[in-house]
This record gives sequence, structure tokens and C-alpha cells, in this order.
Amino acid sequence: GAHMAAYGGLHPSYSEKAVVDTVPFYEGGRYDPTVPKPNDFLEHPLGQWPLPYHELVAYIEALADHSERVVLDTRGKTHEGRDMFNIFISAPANIANLNQLGAAMEMLADPGRIESESELETAIEELPAFAWLGYTIHGDELSGTDAAVQMAYHLAAANDSATLHLLENVIAIIDPLENPDGRERYVHMLQNYKSHVPNYDPNAMQHSGVWPWGRTNHYLFDLNRDCILLTQPETIGKIQTIQKWHPVLVVDAHEMGSHATYLFSPPREPINYNTPPNVLKWWKVYNQDQAAAFDRHGWPYYAGEWNDQWYPGYTSAWPTFFGAVGILYEQAGVNGAVVKQRDDYLLTFHEAVNHQFTSSLTNLLTTANNRRELLKDYYEARKGIVSEGKKSRLQFLFVPDDDELKMKRFIESLIGQGIVVQRATQEFSVGKATDIYHAEHSSRKFPAGTYVVNTAQPNGALAKAVLEFDPHFKQEFLEEERRELEKHNETRMYEVSAWSVPLAYDIDAYYTNSSFTVATEQVNSVELSQGKLVNPQGQFGFVINMEGEKTYRLLNRLFAKELVVYGSEKPFTVEGRSYKAGALLLRKRGNPKELPSILAPLAEEVGINIYGVNSGRSTEGSYLGAPTFRLLAQPRIGLVMGDGMNYLSVGSLWYTVDKELEIPHSLIQVSRIQYTDLSKYNVIILPSAWGDVLRGLLGERGAKKLDKWVTEGGTLVMTGRSAVWAADTSVALSQVRLKRQVLDKLDVYKKGLERELQAEAPTVDTMALWHPDKIPAGENVTQKKEEAPPSKPGKKEAEDLDKWQRKFHPRGAILQADIDTEDWLAFGMRGQVPVMAYTSHALMAAAPVKTPARFAPEQNDLRLSGLLWPEARQRWTGTAYVTRESKGKGQIIMFATDPNTRAYFWGTRRMFVNAILYGPGMSRGFEPYEEKQ
Ligand SMILES: [Zn+2]
Repeated sequence: GAHMAAYGGLHPSYSEKAVVDTVPFYEGGRYDPTVPKPNDFLEHPLGQWPLPYHELVAYIEALADHSERVVLDTRGKTHEGRDMFNIFISAPANIANLNQLGAAMEMLADPGRIESESELETAIEELPAFAWLGYTIHGDELSGTDAAVQMAYHLAAANDSATLHLLENVIAIIDPLENPDGRERYVHMLQNYKSHVPNYDPNAMQHSGVWPWGRTNHYLFDLNRDCILLTQPETIGKIQTIQKWHPVLVVDAHEMGSHATYLFSPPREPINYNTPPNVLKWWKVYNQDQAAAFDRHGWPYYAGEWNDQWYPGYTSAWPTFFGAVGILYEQAGVNGAVVKQRDDYLLTFHEAVNHQFTSSLTNLLTTANNRRELLKDYYEARKGIVSEGKKSRLQFLFVPDDDELKMKRFIESLIGQGIVVQRATQEFSVGKATDIYHAEHSSRKFPAGTYVVNTAQPNGALAKAVLEFDPHFKQEFLEEERRELEKHNETRMYEVSAWSVPLAYDIDAYYTNSSFTVATEQVNSVELSQGKLVNPQGQFGFVINMEGEKTYRLLNRLFAKELVVYGSEKPFTVEGRSYKAGALLLRKRGNPKELPSILAPLAEEVGINIYGVNSGRSTEGSYLGAPTFRLLAQPRIGLVMGDGMNYLSVGSLWYTVDKELEIPHSLIQVSRIQYTDLSKYNVIILPSAWGDVLRGLLGERGAKKLDKWVTEGGTLVMTGRSAVWAADTSVALSQVRLKRQVLDKLDVYKKGLERELQAEAPTVDTMALWHPDKIPAGENVTQKKEEAPPSKPGKKEAEDLDKWQRKFHPRGAILQADIDTEDWLAFGMRGQVPVMAYTSHALMAAAPVKTPARFAPEQNDLRLSGLLWPEARQRWTGTAYVTRESKGKGQIIMFATDPNTRAYFWGTRRMFVNAILYGPGMSRGFEPYEEKQ
């Protein structure tokens, strides 16, 4: 047994018991022999070993070919080119009428189209309920897909009365594999590390795999956070399917740790308060039936222990906001054939698959048995949402800015979820509106083109859950969380406490409960403006404005064409047109003669205007030959990844560099940095890491190597825990420091911050300047300020306070950072930006380190959304968010937390893109001044 492990006994991988799980998937099942059986298509019998992707495809295609109960449809391709599937299964009569039944369901889903109780009764009389079952969204949670295959076979072939009754009343839509790339990667790993001698030890690599494992998709995204963001192809098709067919039941089957049992719904608090009441009611009904099914086999299970449902972007949470009952499964992971649990129980993959299969079948039977009530409640829930929207008059307003691609991505992510978005066709005014920085505006005028989302729509509660700037927890939950933190130093939060999508995109957004009238049109997609080369004859050169994403994409292409490009540090006006800081300049001199014919197609491809200018003489700002135009250089990027790095941080940065901006780059293994020739690169990106691992992975040698590389001209960009590593006094690659290591110098940083703020609005006391002798004694303000003695707590006191404050650190709250808009890292930014903060580390920076973005120095401004305890507010206020420091010929740029969370924080992402695209040029740009001296 386990107690002997330390001194002797059996190897943890060994058991003398032969493990054969003989519990059938379905007791006494009678199956149509003409329907293909899974085992005819699988190398290993179902449940003995996780089936690979190609066997899944072969089987479901055969099933669709041989059964009148089955229709197979694809719903898009993954990044790696794998098809994703919807398997529709129901009674042949339902399948033959699939589209009509879908249309009937769509009518029921629109409360405006049914006007009386009798119409409602007629509408649901003959209508089967749709149910959506999704499996293995986390690719390393394997048993779901094998259960989906058994499920598809059972529904297609079983002829017992219970299953026939189910098929008459339910149309199942099975998504057998939500994340094909991740699962395939993981199945390969298990195969790669499989030993010849049987192994039951969950620690063994044949059960655990290696970095980056299989949870995520190709770009290492957690797809079970993406439902409200729609950044990944795996999500988009799935969300479309659910929106189109209106399932009343949505199941998402997961796995958890190997030593666990089985978890299902309902979740525990905090449950997002936008969930309609019918969902809470039906969770209990499904739960009772599912528990009874497990009790029949004596299988252990639980519910409501750790899975909260505050974040709306889970697959099992997202559909609840428009009336579907979302159910989560979590099965103990086997990761192969068999694992030995803590109590020596040998859990087989077959049993895991059986748990998932039995759960799904039970949920479908509950749906069939309660079809009419479920359909009626779905209708009522949506009707209730519309009238709640009418009552509250809650509407969201989004004013487009000059970053068209950002606006398109944001608006289309809402439309993709089925949220109705309108666009004002004229200017209008709103009595009271509140912006994302909590500022209230009276009689605010909005321009034509403003996007409007009215919550008086069936997807109004979803819209509210996704868009709400600052949802508040219930008092009881806050008390519970506080007790947990103070007593156990633990949190009850499973996920971030804030996610507001308009904040993340840094949209000029408002909400209002005031009525207003304006003509609008419904938006189905956001059109982008065209770009062209204006005045191709421009005799001095060509200028491109800073318009966010389009400018970035163009700049990347200009680099690829090896053109000589300058970036303007400051705004300027030339030939009647104004350009912002970050605008690009191509002088004719130094570029190829055929420059206009190179630029014209680029302007069209990217959709941005390129303006030819005849003169370099600006009417405002610097002339186009001034040193404020800095020669830019193509980034030669090394992006660091590998074991120890935070794959979510790595993935979101990789996705932006590779897929969105298409910048050439090399992925470099973190453990090989010490041995890699870094001189080939001028930008190295170190994404966040897990805990303190960089100390070991890079060691002193790696730190020295990076240090030398920076000194020789490199731009080192670090985020989250990598920045923490570089700031730690024992590494000190950067001059930035961790707050807890400089508690005795806080007054120095405070003074530095005061001077920084003062410099933004300097006052010149001319009396003090020219006639200090005439100022009465004791009234010299400047002197007084500088001489004020710092009040310092004792060392022990300061450490205690800091430790106490750290306990309450932000766990996914959105905070305000104030921006130094004169810094080049702030190209395209406004004066503030919302930042996702999930960290227990505060960074301190003082001159000569620049701090282009700083957490709001005014405590009351700091929290924008989510949970931030007063202790954390005190600790993080005024600390550094983005720092920039020169070192030799190079520079170090650090982000205190990840700037590109889930690839939708486009506000802070800008500073990251500025760092990598403008960085190599901006770090080397001081030569003109030096030459002059
Ligand atoms: Zn999972």
C-alpha cells in the first residue's frame, strides 16, 4: 500500500492485479447490426487506449454513411488544418426534417414571434429539443472524445425503447473533439513515452506528457476561455452552431487530476448574476438524474465544490446567458490505459469513458423526459431577458476610433456570438452615460457611426455579461473570499474576477440607462476603408499616419521590402495633413527609384493611405529631415518558449507576432539560451514563466549572456514573471526593483514619482527664480516640498505590512495605467489604458528608468473592474506597469503583467507591438545629437 512507499514495497507504477473493466457502457443494449461498430475502425478496442484523430474521422464518416439517424457536418478547420465536426443524431424523421425543425426552434427562440399561450403550446407540441454535447476542449482531457464515439454509436444503433424515446424527443448535436490539434499533440506524447512494461503511475511521462502538453490549441490558447472573445477558429464554428440550433442543453466534458472522482453541475458561487432563473432550476433536475445513474454503479462523484461560474466565457457558462442549461463534467484523468489512484484503486480509461458516456446519455434522457417544459422555459427565459432589457433601458455605446482593425475585431466578436449590434446613422445625444473609467457624462453627443447594443434582445443578458464594465460580487461571496484569504491564504476564485471586453480593447465605450432616439441600421460585418497611394509623384517622399494595427501591418511589409523607413517621435503637420506620433516616413532619397510602384499595392493590401509629399517643410512640428524622425530597423525576433515558460503567455504573444502581424521570428528554447548564438537577433521576447523557474533555467550564465547581448544593442522585452526575474536583486539584469526588496527605499521612489508627475505640469515660480530674497520666510514652496522629511516605518513593520498587502494581490482585476503619451512605447495610445493584472509582484522604477505606463498614482483611480481589495490598491498604486531602460547600446523593456492576455487586450498589446516593431530603431537613434556635439 501507499504507506510503505518511503522504505520499500512495490514500484508506484506496478500492480499485481490484472485490470479489466467489465462494466458495460449500456446494460442489455440491443444494437442494429448494420450500423458500423467503433471497434471495427479502431486499432485498440474503445476504452483501452485513447483513439487518434484519423480513427475518429474514419468512424464518424462511416457512421453517417450507414445510418439514417446521422448527419455529419464540418464546422471549420483548426490552425493545423484539421476538420472539426458536428454530428447530428436523432430519429430518422427528425433528421429528414432537420432544417424545418431548426427554423421552428428559431421561431421559439425569438419571443417577439409568439404572442399567446396557445401559440406557444402549438409551437412546442411536436418540436424535438436540440441538445449540444461537446468533448475534449482541453486536448489532454482525453476520455471525452472516446465517449463521444460510443455516444454516436449508441444513438445511431440502439433499438431499446428508452433510446428510441430519446431519439424521438431530442436532436443531439455531438461535437466529438473541440480541440483536435491539442488532443492529437497529447495522444502522440503518450505514445512517444509509453514503456513496454505496464505503468500505472500518474507521474510517469507516458501519463503526463511534456511541455506544452495538450490542453491548448496550436497557438497555446485555452479554448475554454474563448467563448466571449472568439479569437480562435475552434471557438468560432462552435459558437455559430450553438447560436444557430438553440440547444436547450449544452454539455462540456472535461477531465481533472488523476486522483479525483467525477464532478458535474450545478456550480457553486460566485455564479454570474446574468444567468436566467430557469437554468438554476434545471441544474437541480439534471443533477438528480445524473447522480442516480452514478449510484447504480457505485461510482463516486461530487458537485459544487470548486467550479464557480463567474467568468462567462466557459463553454458550459456562455449558453446559459440566453436560456440553455450548461453542464460541466470533470472526470479524473487516466491519460493512457490505467492509473493507480491514491487509494490504490486502478482507474481504467474504459471506466473514465464510461462515466462520460453514462453522464451524457443520462442528460439526454432527462432532456427527452422534460422536453416540453424545457422548451417552454427556454422561450420564457428569453422573453424575460428582453423585458428586463426594456425595463432597465441598459444600452452600450461604442465610438469608433482610428484603429479600424481593432474596432472590426471587437464588433465582430459580438456579432459572432449572436448579439445584435446597431450603428447610428446620425449624430445623437444621450442624457447620462458612463465611460470605462467610471466618469459620468451629461448630454453627451455621439457621432454618426457609433455602435449601439441594446440589452432588450434575447441575447441581452449575454451582451450584458460580456460587456459590463464592472460587475460586482454579492456581499456574502465577498465575506467568504475575505475569510478564505485571511484565514487560509487561499482564494475562492477559480478564474479572473474581470474580463470586460470593451475595456480590454480600450474602446471609447459607454453604458447608459437613459432613453434616446436615433436612426440605426443593423450591422452584420464591419467594412474596412480602402487604402491607396495618394500623390504618387510626391517629390520629397511618402508619409503614413499612425492608425494602430494597419500601420503595424504596413510597417512589417515595408521592412520585408528592405525600404528605409523612419518613425516620427512627435506629431507633425505637412501639406495640410496632420500625423500622429508613430507616423512613418519614407524619404525618396535612400529608397529605390521605383518606390511609388512598390508602395501602391501595399497601400491597397493593407487598406491604408500612403501620402506623397512634395516638401519636407512641416507647418507644425519638426521638418521631415529632423532627428525626431528615427531610422527604424527590421526586428529579428527570437521568441523564447519551452518547459518552464507560461504557455498561455507564450501562445498569445506568438499568435500576435506570427498569425496577426506575420512578422518573421524564431521560437527559441529557454533551456538552450545559454548555448545559442543570440547575435542573429535584435529583439528577444521573454514571455512570462511559471513561478521562479527562470533562475534555474537561465542561471547566472544565461543572465550574463542576455545582459551582454542587450549591451551590444539588443532589445529585450520581458513580461510578467520574466520581468520579476530580471528585477530580483539576486539577478538585477534590470534597474527596476521588486517592491518587497526595496521597502527601505520607498520614500526615494515616492519622491521620484512626485517629480515625474510634477514634470507633466511644471510650475515656474518667477519670484523664487529672480527674487528669492523677497519671499517671506517659510513660504518658499519649492524648498518646503524638497525638504519634507520622509516618514519611515521600521523595517520589521514595513515587511509585515507588505506581506499582509500581498495576500490580497490582484487575481485578474482590470486596473488603470496612466500613459506617458510622449514616449514612443505609447504610439497610438490614449492617456490611460485598462490593464489585466494577475500578479503578486509590484515593480518599482525611478530615473533613469523610464516608466511609459504606470498603475494609477491616485488610489481611487486604480480599480476599473473586478476584485481589488483596499490592501492591494495601496500596494500597487503608482507602481510601474511598463518600464524602459537603456543599457549600453541596447534596452530592456518590461511589462509587470502580461500585455496580451488571451489576445484580446488590444489596449496594452499596442505597447508590446511598439516595443518589437519600433524598438530596434528607437534604441539606436541618438547618433545625430551625439555627432553634433
Ligand atoms: Zn478542462
